[in-house]
Amino acid sequence: MSSFRLFAPSSRGGEEELDVLVVGAGPAGLTAALYLARYGVKTAVYAKEIGGQMAIAPLVDDYPGVPRVSGRELADRFVNHVRSYGVPIVIDELVDVRREGDRWVALFSSGRRVRCVAAILALGARKRRLGVPGEDRLLGRGVSYCAVCDGPMYAGKRVAVVGGGNSALTSALYLSSVASRVYLVHRRDSFRAMPIYVERARSDPKIEMVLRSVVTEIVGDDRVRGIKVRNVESGEERLIEVDGVFIEVGVEPPTELFRKIGIEVDEEGRAVVDKDMSTNLPGIFVAGDAAGGPKKYRFPQIITAAAEGAIAADAAWKYLQKARSGRGT
Ligand code: NAP
Repeated sequence: MSSFRLFAPSSRGGEEELDVLVVGAGPAGLTAALYLARYGVKTAVYAKEIGGQMAIAPLVDDYPGVPRVSGRELADRFVNHVRSYGVPIVIDELVDVRREGDRWVALFSSGRRVRCVAAILALGARKRRLGVPGEDRLLGRGVSYCAVCDGPMYAGKRVAVVGGGNSALTSALYLSSVASRVYLVHRRDSFRAMPIYVERARSDPKIEMVLRSVVTEIVGDDRVRGIKVRNVESGEERLIEVDGVFIEVGVEPPTELFRKIGIEVDEEGRAVVDKDMSTNLPGIFVAGDAAGGPKKYRFPQIITAAAEGAIAADAAWKYLQKARSGRGT
């Protein structure tokens, strides 16, 4: 028989009342929730979407013990593991966190309020926009930020991937299994992606590298018809005819929300965290892609996000014990 206590959030005057709220259902948030549940802490996960960046990874082969798995499948495993401890996962978007008396109150877009002693904000990051003409207008009509979600629509078609990081390379490799041709457009001729992905892409006959080049415009009327690409050395511009453009130029943290809450951010807009993932606000922890600052070793991977979630959970649990013992919060 399990010795762990299981909790569901209780309502009080239209509010949820928790010990530790977890916001975000990527690897950091789900791991935090798992650890909190195992500590017997009354918790719940609130998230805009399930899985975060992990869920849209075409193939994950660097999470030990789970070889060659899709990001979606790995995310499902995280979710099922958390749910096996009876932790509720609620879809809602965090809009603010405020101090009311001796509690934090998290406000969500549905109007829901969650009162808690501590909160772990594992908000992740959203895809950065390229910022070129045609990008917004053709979004969903050939412009995509998710190869796994939209790639199957491009069977036998020509696509472009923009970027030179792990996301761009893994997306290009995934798309080469679907599309007839993949143009990988990158502004430099060296990649920040891992060598294993670069080598695979270089030896893939369907992938054509368009290096030292930037996209200046995405063209098309009702659908994407091509991209204008300028060589940064020669200045020469040309049109590459494609049906789809997958933009993978990095991610951005939820800086504005952090500022609104009063969480200190670093020069890249990530929450400044201590080694236990605590922020400048007592009882508010940030883990995963949205965490930064000089004390954090930045290596955004599923395994490091999960590890930070576990650390944040342990620190929040200790904070909770201190609060309960009346030693102040
Ligand atoms: P990233 O590593 O920050 O790479 C972004 C890429 O986009 C860079 O190559 C950058 O070029 C390029 N870029 C940025 N702004 C641009 C612009 N305005 N125009 C043209 N190109 C632009 O981002 P990511 O690939 O999304 O990855 C995010 C994090 O997740 C990374 O830490 C990554 O390692 C991790 N990740 C890991 C895996 C894995 O398999 N382990 C898979 C996916 C993601 P420059 O190189 O010239 O700066």
